[in-house]
Amino acid sequence: MTTTPDTIRHVRLSTATLPLATPISDAKVFTGRQRPMTEVVFLFAEIRTEQGHEGLGFSYSKRAGGPAQFAHAAEVAEPAIGEDPSDIAKIYTKLLWAGASVGRSGVATQALAAIDIALYDLKAKRASLPLAKLLGAHRDSVRTYNTSGGFLHAGVEEIKDRATASLEAGIGGIKMKVGLPDTREDLRRVSAVREHLGADVPLMVDANQQWDRATALRMGRRLEEFDLVWIEEPLDAYDAEGHADLTRRLDTPIATGEMLSSVAEHVHLIEARACDIIQPDAPRVGGITNFLRLAALADHAGLELAPHFAMEIHLHLAACYPREPWVEHFDWLDPLFNERLETRDGRMIVPDRPGLGVTLSEQARAWTTDSVEFGRS
Ligand SMILES: [Mg+2]
Repeated sequence: MTTTPDTIRHVRLSTATLPLATPISDAKVFTGRQRPMTEVVFLFAEIRTEQGHEGLGFSYSKRAGGPAQFAHAAEVAEPAIGEDPSDIAKIYTKLLWAGASVGRSGVATQALAAIDIALYDLKAKRASLPLAKLLGAHRDSVRTYNTSGGFLHAGVEEIKDRATASLEAGIGGIKMKVGLPDTREDLRRVSAVREHLGADVPLMVDANQQWDRATALRMGRRLEEFDLVWIEEPLDAYDAEGHADLTRRLDTPIATGEMLSSVAEHVHLIEARACDIIQPDAPRVGGITNFLRLAALADHAGLELAPHFAMEIHLHLAACYPREPWVEHFDWLDPLFNERLETRDGRMIVPDRPGLGVTLSEQARAWTTDSVEFGRS
C-alpha cells in the first residue's frame, strides 16, 4: 500500500484570555516581584491539510507575553503552507529561521510551540492514535499530583480541605507553595499539611525561585523530616551551580526547569547535574520537538521527569518517558476544552482519543481576542 503525501492547506492562529476564578499568588508575589495572577493568555494553532486532517496546539503566557507570542507566530507561520505536515522537524526549523533574529528561546520558540504541537496532534490523529501511542508509550497512565490547591494565598485549612478533595478525586500527590517572607511560617504550614495527609501521601513543595543559596540549604535541611517527594525551584531558575550544590547536599530530591525556554538551557541544567527531577514545559521550550530532544538527554543522565503545567499535552509526553514520571494536575484549562482527563488511583489516564484528545470549546472561542489565517480555508 502506498500513501499520497499530504500538504498543509490552512493555518489559523488565535489568542484567547482565560480568566482565573481567584487571583493566584506564589512566592514571587510575596517577594514583590510579580502581581497576583488573574488570567492566562493562550496562543492556539489550528492546522488543516489538503486531505482534511486537522491538528490543534497551544502555547500560553502568564501575566505578560501573550500578545508577543501571537504577533511572532503570525509573522513567521506562513511558510508552513504547502509543506508536508508529517515533516515536523523540517517545518519547525524553517519557521525558527524565519524569526531567528529574535533568538531561539523565549517568546520566539514559545510562538512556534503552538504550531509544533498542532502538527504532532495532526500526525497522531491521522494515524488514529493517541499522541502517547504515536510517540511510543511506556505506560497508559501517569502518577499525578495537585498544585492548584496549595498556593500561598490559601490558608492552611483551605489547603487541607482542597488536598482531601484532590485525593478523593483520584489524584495521588499534593504540592504546596513555600517561600513566604517568614520561613518559620512555611515550616508550620508544611508540618500541618503533612500531619493532615499522613505519612503515605506524596507531598512536594515549591519555592518558585525565591530563596537565596543559604536560605535554600537551611530550609532544605529543615524540610528533610517531612519526607518530601521533591523541593521545587529553591533557587533562581538560572542558578544551575546553586541547584547542583543543593542536589548533592540534601537527601530530598531537587526539582527545577519549568522557567527555561530552550533545549540549550536544559542541557546546561543536565550537564551541571543541577536537579534530580527535571521539569520541562513543552509550550515554553518550543513544543514537542524540543521536549523530546531534552527528555532523551535527561533520561540518559538518569534524571526523573515531572513536566510543568499543561497536563493536556504533558500527560502524553510523560507517558513516553522511560522512568516513572509525575504529571501536574491543574484544572484551570478545563473551560477551554470539551473533554476532561480522568484521574483514578493516584494516576491520570492517557485518553484513548486520537491526538492530544482535546477540542476547543465554545467558551474558548468566546474568549478569543484576535486571530489570523493563512492559506486556503
Ligand atoms: Mg513550579
